[in-house]
Amino acid sequence: MRREIDYALARRATVREFQQGKLSRLDVCDAHPELVRAARHLGHDTHDACPICSESPLRSVLYAYGDALKVANGRPLTGPDELDRLARRHDEFSCYVVEVCLACQWNYLTRTFLVGRRHAG
Ligand SMILES: [Zn+2]
Repeated sequence: MRREIDYALARRATVREFQQGKLSRLDVCDAHPELVRAARHLGHDTHDACPICSESPLRSVLYAYGDALKVANGRPLTGPDELDRLARRHDEFSCYVVEVCLACQWNYLTRTFLVGRRHAG
């Protein structure tokens, strides 16, 4: 069982504030260069268009956090295979899913979840 937090509501609120002019593009399209690089090289296409510039598709990047992960701690993962491999080897760690638009640099943490042997089955 996965303990998961979904940030879809907060994301919608942010997009709405942008559409209402309460937030500027500079406020919401501020992806760090490292994140953009990770999205380009390790990210995966999603089925969603960017909520800010309508370019599609958004890229999704998966980060893993946990002291036991050692070198993988805080690093973007290459995909579901690497996630499965790490989950079989460690009791528990956190994953952060970030969506990134390569066109306008919109970025948002869409969900976090815990994985590992403790959560298997
Ligand atoms: Zn965009």
